[in-house]
Amino acid sequence: DPLTASSPGPRDNCPPFDIDTIRSQFPILQRRIHGHPLAYLDNAATSQKPRAVIDAIQKYYLQHNANVHRGVYQLSEEATHDYEASRDKVQRFINARERAEIIFVRGTTEAINLVAHSFAKPRLNPGDEILISTLEHHSNIVPWQIICQQTGAQLRVIPISDAGEIDTTAVDTLLKPNCRLLSLTHVSNTLGTINPIQQMIRQAHQHGIPVLIDGAQAVPHLQIDVQTLDADFYAFSGHKAYGPTGIGVLYGKREILEQMQPYQGGGDMISEVTFEQTEYNELPYRFEAGTPNIAGAIGLGCALDYLDAIGLQQISRHEQSLLDYATQALSAIRGLRLIGTARNKAGILSFVMDAAHAHDVSTVLDQAGVAIRAGHHCTMPLMARLGVAATARASLALYNNRTDIDALAAGLQEVKRMFK
Ligand code: PLP
Repeated sequence: DPLTASSPGPRDNCPPFDIDTIRSQFPILQRRIHGHPLAYLDNAATSQKPRAVIDAIQKYYLQHNANVHRGVYQLSEEATHDYEASRDKVQRFINARERAEIIFVRGTTEAINLVAHSFAKPRLNPGDEILISTLEHHSNIVPWQIICQQTGAQLRVIPISDAGEIDTTAVDTLLKPNCRLLSLTHVSNTLGTINPIQQMIRQAHQHGIPVLIDGAQAVPHLQIDVQTLDADFYAFSGHKAYGPTGIGVLYGKREILEQMQPYQGGGDMISEVTFEQTEYNELPYRFEAGTPNIAGAIGLGCALDYLDAIGLQQISRHEQSLLDYATQALSAIRGLRLIGTARNKAGILSFVMDAAHAHDVSTVLDQAGVAIRAGHHCTMPLMARLGVAATARASLALYNNRTDIDALAAGLQEVKRMFK
């Protein structure tokens, strides 16, 4: 089963998946929009938060707020304890070997920029290459362009098929001796394609090339095991995984992180400072300059607990079944074309309609309480490859149900009526 290829095995201690109970745990789902129940289908942009996460953040500010790592008084020790406990949760959640390999950052974007500047840039010479794919989000394109400009290196791009799948046969020829890094998305935020990353990491390693995986769209949907995957770096954002904004994770193998210079300088990332020189702190603190997003990290830890209690296997199964249902519903609408038909897909449906531009589609849907996204989804080169300027995109989360999909399909029929 490709969905669970990187999973350590089924969990048997999760209660059965009950969608109504789950929905009741997300307060925002009670809202009505323009008089209709909210059908929130923009989860690839950001997910809604369960009450447990909102409560954890509030509890931190109500009862434990203090700066971490520095104080020797009780509140600071409590804040430090909770912040560091979240690091342990992340470590367990993605099965990292040790907590020192978990660096808290602002999100996937900052994680990739950190690797670009601290790992890649000092290793790049003119003529070297960074390899990405056509599917990448701008945050896995632009940081590489910036350091390529600074070093004279070149950005190379793995092609995709019309279905939106990576051409794995092209990969070997692109993994050349002067390639210094493969940076690849686990799941496409625009098409939902799940890339065969385990196989591609193995391929890259056979050529001695390290791999960064952009896991922004994978972590909320698939069980991740960074050791089984053997990823050198794995990045994700808290806010797409039911946690707060402004917090994310960079996982890196210890032996690689230890060779890297800090990304930013400031408090907490040092062990000794004089005006002449500075000794850096140990991992992971060396990469966490300044006061971190303490409440964010605590909220993220709570979100991961929440996901763990439901179980990623059950979540994947629910979302796959809903994806099948939605694919059928949308395929039945004449004048609608699904974009991206990979065999192995997460719950993302991109489409265009003959009747109306994607932005008009999304505006009409909003009137029916259905929230989707329209545009290029921060993947302009992918849009160019697919020959579309914009798509409408519905993206699923664990709390979506068939009623949400029915509301989407009904809204799309309304679009056809309005723009006839
Ligand atoms: N990578 C992918 C695949 C994404 O979908 C996103 C967000 O949309 C990002 C990276 C950037 O994440 P963030 O904006 O949280 O840093």
